[in-house]
Amino acid sequence: MKAAVVTSFSAPLEIVERPVPDPGPGQVLVRLETCGLCHTDIHAAGGDWPVKPPLPIVPGHEGIGIVEKLGAGVTDRSVGDRVAIPWLGEACGECRYCIDGRETLCEKQENSGYSIDGAFAEYAVASAKYVVAVPDGISSLDAAPLSCAGLTTYKALKVAKVQPTEHVGIFGIGGLGHLAVQYARIMGGTVVAVDIEQPKLDLAKELGAEHVVDAATVNPVEAIQALGGLDVAVVLAASPRVLEQAFASLRRGGRLVCVALPAEGTMSIPIFDTVIKGISILGSIVGTRQDLAEVFALHAAGKTRVIAETRQLEDVNEAIAEVLSGSIPARLVFEYARVPAIVG
Ligand code: ZN
Ligand code: ZN
Repeated sequence: MKAAVVTSFSAPLEIVERPVPDPGPGQVLVRLETCGLCHTDIHAAGGDWPVKPPLPIVPGHEGIGIVEKLGAGVTDRSVGDRVAIPWLGEACGECRYCIDGRETLCEKQENSGYSIDGAFAEYAVASAKYVVAVPDGISSLDAAPLSCAGLTTYKALKVAKVQPTEHVGIFGIGGLGHLAVQYARIMGGTVVAVDIEQPKLDLAKELGAEHVVDAATVNPVEAIQALGGLDVAVVLAASPRVLEQAFASLRRGGRLVCVALPAEGTMSIPIFDTVIKGISILGSIVGTRQDLAEVFALHAAGKTRVIAETRQLEDVNEAIAEVLSGSIPARLVFEYARVPAIVG
């Protein structure tokens, strides 16, 4: 099978031929149909974050494919099921976080495409319990970005407890942001979309944002305060400066939700304003299996739209360059050619 592999943090990914892996106990073998390219994959390939992936590593945590083989002891999946391989590759299932519905905080978790091989390959093995069923009526092309971009933003808005009529700022309209705009609307928010690229602001408008702010041409804090300020600011742009702007755009009682992870990750927050205005600062990390099931249900019900373009895995390095250039309207998704099924 073909796989895109990170062999060095300072070199491009390599396309290599590898044997199809065998599912171990509790695992399934998934023949992948699609996998989205997430910014986290780019950070993994560059070794940008304090915790680096072990090399070599196959990135990819928006994998959608068909279960083709079951490992020993797997009873909750069947051959032929279509599933998502998300960022939460596996968790312990026993700690307080796993038990109380916060499994993405598990300290013993494995992350697809980061701590264990992911879905930038024609096949992947994954934990049968942590793959998530993809309902009929959702294309594998749409399901891929929903598995991280959709899940992450849906969860961020849930964490913020958006109330109807609240003003919700989405900072950064791209793979994540275009979905965040839609979830904020579904939850009843009035959406202010902030970006520095006009085509992305146009897309946000098309997807329901009531206001758009072009931070390349106006001071976003002044523009947003002129609209009355934000109750919730979700920051999807990996820049400490944007986090600070988002903070300054909040009204009293506002919630700043940090999602993007800048490589140099420190922001400066005024204590006085935080206290006097009763501001909450929240971190939100992807979402649980249940959150992803909800994301899929919303899409199957026709309530969200995914904007994505397909690429071939062989062009992974070019695709990364496209994402980094900011020229991509939303998400890139690798589409795998139909490879023959494995028998047995
Ligand atoms: Zn991701
Ligand atoms: Zn756990």
